[in-house]
Amino acid sequence: METFQALLPGQSVQDIGRRAKFLTITLSESILVFHLRMSGDLRMEPSESPLEKHDRMVLDFTSGWRLSFNDTRKFGRVWLVYDTLAIFAALGPEPDDPALTPAKFHEMLRERKRAIKPLLLDQHFLAGLGNIYTDEALFRASIHPLQSSETLDEQDAARLLEAIRFTLASGIESNGASIDWVYRGGDFQNHFQVYQRSGKPCPRCGQPINKILVGQRGTHFCPNCQKLKGA
Ligand SMILES: [Zn+2]
Repeated sequence: METFQALLPGQSVQDIGRRAKFLTITLSESILVFHLRMSGDLRMEPSESPLEKHDRMVLDFTSGWRLSFNDTRKFGRVWLVYDTLAIFAALGPEPDDPALTPAKFHEMLRERKRAIKPLLLDQHFLAGLGNIYTDEALFRASIHPLQSSETLDEQDAARLLEAIRFTLASGIESNGASIDWVYRGGDFQNHFQVYQRSGKPCPRCGQPINKILVGQRGTHFCPNCQKLKGA
């Protein structure tokens, strides 16, 4: 905290960006990196606005605005660094990177030999996907969450990559999903096809959506539309 207080005053914001689930604010002399994790939240408001109970860090700007980092459960993280190399080095490619072609994605899947759901959540494999978007993308691509990655053929890989891109773009268009009090203003929860819909009819075939645990994560899928290939 002392380091932040010593280094931040006098710096100005040069750029705002994102890599995987990290948000970056590039300052004149250093870079602030945020990871909201499960309960972190950022608020931009006039400096005279009252502070909230779990505000962990506040930045007052000379423009009269204030950025507050609020985190009820203290899962979130903030770093102040000179370069982001150490934080970002091990991350996989961004799903919307044009260099990530269907052929390249297929090759990545073949090399891993892991169940597809935990593999897609692994930020070292592909950056940015969380539980909701993974379940929704696998449903769109008609792939079972436990399908082993190397068994997916070129067509499967291309369909999955398209589904991931479509799902992320839809989420962004809806301002994300507001299923937690922290995340305000999102609408994507109203477009869920399978996520948190266990027992409800599949929007494609009408069979009930199933929920299983895959690597500790609640996983929603349609057993009829997402059959295990080769099983
Ligand atoms: Zn179905």
